[in-house]
Amino acid sequence: MTASPAAATTGAGRFAPSPTGDLHVGNLRTAVLAWLFARASGRGFLLRVEDLDPQRSRTEAGQLRDLSAVGLAWDAAPVRQSERTGLYLAAIARLSESGRIYECFCTRSEIADAPRAPHIPPGTYPGTCRNLSAAERSKRRLERPAALRLRSEVDEYTVTDLLHGEFTGPVDDLVLRRNDGALPYNLAVVIDDAAQGIDQVVRGGDLLSSAPRQAYLASLLGLPPVEYAHVPLVLNRSGQRLAKRDGAITLAALARTGLAAIQVRNLILASLNLPAGTLAHALEAFSPALLPRDPWIFAAPA
Ligand code: GLU
Repeated sequence: MTASPAAATTGAGRFAPSPTGDLHVGNLRTAVLAWLFARASGRGFLLRVEDLDPQRSRTEAGQLRDLSAVGLAWDAAPVRQSERTGLYLAAIARLSESGRIYECFCTRSEIADAPRAPHIPPGTYPGTCRNLSAAERSKRRLERPAALRLRSEVDEYTVTDLLHGEFTGPVDDLVLRRNDGALPYNLAVVIDDAAQGIDQVVRGGDLLSSAPRQAYLASLLGLPPVEYAHVPLVLNRSGQRLAKRDGAITLAALARTGLAAIQVRNLILASLNLPAGTLAHALEAFSPALLPRDPWIFAAPA
């Protein structure tokens, strides 16, 4: 991408938090980066609440409040995944019609213990149920409900990332509907990015390895490819991902140590080598090429 504000006149970037807890400085930094990348390329900026798991999705209001508190604004009402099940099921139906779905009866331990060819990476599905006969499927259906898997025709797929360049990662027969009916993030993210007109995905570097399977799924659904930027994570002093035990890492906890949201924003901007002040001010100095590539070590105040 280029940082020229005139580079794109359509399309959008986004921030897509899972509302499973308060945002921490790492999440907020990623959100700020997503906004900067979007605006610097003339794109809109949208929010999506990734609340596919209703049991764990309780913090949407607080997350939106914290995003506003650091000065972020978005161009449309946030979209909630919990309200879009019909879209995801329609995509599964389309894939099913073209013979790209099969039923899988494996338990987790069966998958872990399954023999796998040397070229199949650990953690990927070895294809056990891929070629079951109709008779075998009927028999297995009596034992347990089936999950639905994608019949993938590739072992790997390559995406282009603004910070990582060409990235090739494994693609297996990913689950598109779990056997309890739950719909997975990997499906929803692909459908929603396209449906929201999102063509730039800026998110934490931990999701880089998911990008190839998502991009492959998008290609099968005839959805346009997106531009990726997987940004460095924020780590604690021991080099681990931030977690609650690290103390003051949310805006609420940082406020109790005397740091207001705007000061937290300035810390985030400083970590990106950007000047303190409004996000509009930071945008003037923003250039993807000048971004630090290493994780930011955040030492939470006591
Ligand atoms: N909902 C995911 C998370 O909070 C982010 C997914 C994405 O940006 O694609 O980690």
